[in-house]
Amino acid sequence: MSICAWCEVRACRDQDEGNRPRSCPQREGKWLDRALQKYEDPGNRAMAQIAAHIEKTGYCEWTRLQEITEFCRAAGYKRLGLVFCSGLHSEARIVADYYRKSGLEVISGMCKIGNVDKGDVGIACKDRFNPDSFEAMCNPIGQAELMNEKQTEFNVVLGLCVGHDSLFFKYSDAPVTVLAAKDRVLGHNPLAAVYQAGSYYRKLHAPEED
Ligand code: SF4
Repeated sequence: MSICAWCEVRACRDQDEGNRPRSCPQREGKWLDRALQKYEDPGNRAMAQIAAHIEKTGYCEWTRLQEITEFCRAAGYKRLGLVFCSGLHSEARIVADYYRKSGLEVISGMCKIGNVDKGDVGIACKDRFNPDSFEAMCNPIGQAELMNEKQTEFNVVLGLCVGHDSLFFKYSDAPVTVLAAKDRVLGHNPLAAVYQAGSYYRKLHAPEED
């Protein structure tokens, strides 16, 4: 069993990692060899280097919004994809304007793109808000294919639903980063539940009921 989330020593942060716990994942498997081999790929290597450069240069100064601009500059990306949820349309416009002003070409695609009815992909009536009429489905594969066709160099996800984002990640040709994770209840700040786990969200610690 891999125990990083419960590890008290986190010895992997240090060069001397002698006191790793017994169940440390570094004690078994070939995963690290495979990972190190993948860093030999020049594209992966460059991205790791640029990510480290951005982390260090703007540490605790740049917002994530700005980090994305700086990342594009450092990587030489000119054409940015922005895929967003229809519930965040006004935010998407502000974000798109910001990136355009930063000198990037922005190709944006909203989740409902394509006008595909939920019934067309077999989404059950019980999972529709309007079972008796047309209801456009979120179309993350369509968003990915649009960005692929436009040959965006880097794609930014703004508030796609859980699972829709997974499909976008799966089919996007360009590398993807997330500007914001959707949380309809917590103002797109999912960690608010975690930060309040000691108070109003104490239920996070309670055993799950069947
Ligand atoms: S890799 Fe090993 S040392 Fe590092 S956090 Fe996980 S269990 Fe702890």
